[in-house]
Amino acid sequence: MIDPFGRRVSYLRVSVTDRCDLRCTYCMAEDMTFLPKSEVLSLEEMDRLCGAFVGLGVAKLRLTGGETLVRRGVMQLVRSLGARIGSTALREVTLTTNGTQLARFADELFAAGVRRINVSMDTLDPAAFRAATRWGDLAKVQEGIFAAKRAGLRVKINAVALKGVNEHEFDRMLAWCGEHGFDLCLIETMPMGEVAGERADQYLPLSLVRERLRANWTLDESDHSTGGPARYHDVRETGARVGFITPLTHNFCESCNRVRLTCTGTLYMCLGQDDAADLRAPLRDAELGEEGLRLAILEAISRKPKGHDFVIDRRGRAPAVARHMSVTGG
Ligand code: SAM
Repeated sequence: MIDPFGRRVSYLRVSVTDRCDLRCTYCMAEDMTFLPKSEVLSLEEMDRLCGAFVGLGVAKLRLTGGETLVRRGVMQLVRSLGARIGSTALREVTLTTNGTQLARFADELFAAGVRRINVSMDTLDPAAFRAATRWGDLAKVQEGIFAAKRAGLRVKINAVALKGVNEHEFDRMLAWCGEHGFDLCLIETMPMGEVAGERADQYLPLSLVRERLRANWTLDESDHSTGGPARYHDVRETGARVGFITPLTHNFCESCNRVRLTCTGTLYMCLGQDDAADLRAPLRDAELGEEGLRLAILEAISRKPKGHDFVIDRRGRAPAVARHMSVTGG
């Protein structure tokens, strides 16, 4: 699948549910209204849709959410997708999780063919973690992270950089990740959906964070890539890597290779734009069949926009897009 700007689309991110067992303050409002179950695709439908994308050349699938592992029966989907690795265009199935259910699922994920996962953990401080997630238990997340490591999964820790929340922790987090053999990926907060408080109060440019880190660590630019938007550096002192996802200070749209499917079958061709395509109708239309679904996907790809234009400042602008990150899963 080639978009109008000549970019090959080979990466599909699939949100399996909009529900989450945490309420990270920068991600969701406290009183979120979740979708009625009747609107959400069944796991079989998600599997069929993923199959259609793989048939069109998608090599990497990432399951996300909401919280990926709270979707009931999600392992059935992971196993079915994992079974296609190698025998189709599919090379990798991975997931992003908040880690709360990971201790329970780590071994099953490995057995299903998953080899690496991203776990979101914004701080190493239990009280700050509870405040940032509104009720999360850091010990439970870390128990999940270590279960994943024991199961043989490579773990990358994702942390959104937030002024006044974790900005003084990055040295410690880099050391902790290095000690346990995890890469760390820092992310700039993006203006998606209304949340409590001002985004401008929390926004921390990663250009600044990187300079601060250089005071204590030797960061060598690396050409390592996981097919996502992060730019990596090798941390000489630990042997691990630190990545930076910088949608605000340096967007990476020119190399964008991905599209995002929500749990209702809506395809967003850009994280920072509202344009979308409904794939649920063609998926459920027996008369259209597989060819109809294929054409609907190709039509959507032909509308993939050039990029997003996220801005966070104090002029009180509305979020770039009204939907929360939990709709598309980042
Ligand atoms: N529940 C899973 C998790 O916690 O990773 C998957 C979904 S979560 C929406 C995916 C990632 O998006 C998390 O790392 C989260 O911190 C990040 N995220 C959420 N809202 C964000 C925002 N406004 N800007 C940047 N990253 C955000």
